[in-house]
Amino acid sequence: MPEENLTAVFGGTFDPVHTGHTGLAEYLLKTGRVNRVVFLPAPHPPHKPGNEPAPFADRAAMLRAAIAGHPGMSVSELEAERSGLSYTVDTLGILKQRYPAEHFVWVIGSDSLNQLHQWYESERLVRENRFLAYPRPGAEADFDQLRSVWPPELFEKLRDSVLTDAPEFDLSSTEVRTRLSEQGADACRDLLPEPVLNYIKEHKLYSQRNGDTTT
Ligand code: ATP
Repeated sequence: MPEENLTAVFGGTFDPVHTGHTGLAEYLLKTGRVNRVVFLPAPHPPHKPGNEPAPFADRAAMLRAAIAGHPGMSVSELEAERSGLSYTVDTLGILKQRYPAEHFVWVIGSDSLNQLHQWYESERLVRENRFLAYPRPGAEADFDQLRSVWPPELFEKLRDSVLTDAPEFDLSSTEVRTRLSEQGADACRDLLPEPVLNYIKEHKLYSQRNGDTTT
């Protein structure tokens, strides 16, 4: 276990949550890097303008279904409490205020790490918070690019946040959505936790027709 009370905050669109998300959360808990993982779905993802995700209530419900029976994992709807866009720097500030005895580390995939300099108040975000960057196949952390866009001390902090020994999960929500609409829910068994697959079928999300749509 980490020496301190460490909570990983795993923000994202989760449209839908897939086995890559849950797999990396399991890895962080199993290896004792953190004590808890809180999934934090974004109601209006600021980094993905133009793509309307599934309703927030459904994405949060799928997360709750995915983590049921997983000790140490929870879902926070904190960002839905506020209207408009939620920025990570503000969300982390609220969490630290609400839970002063906790330590928080923001979990980010290596693809998002490469874009982090474009986030709202990115320098303050990195200066004031801790990060843990999870490797993502095909979108590895690009240290040359990171070095060119961050001040040296923040580059070093981010470089040191990259996990090197973690198992990789080669999938994305985009791939899940494409496969769901083109091939149906049963073609996604290897990409989704079973309760999430069942939720998608039941609520006919992502163009699912009634029942099994596999042809
Ligand atoms: P989309 O395909 O819609 O962009 P996504 O699969 O990237 O979705 P998000 O909800 O956008 O999922 O991701 C939330 C966080 O999880 C981000 O930090 C992202 O980098 C990370 N992440 C998602 N999938 C993986 C994966 N397979 N390996 C490592 N990190 C991942």
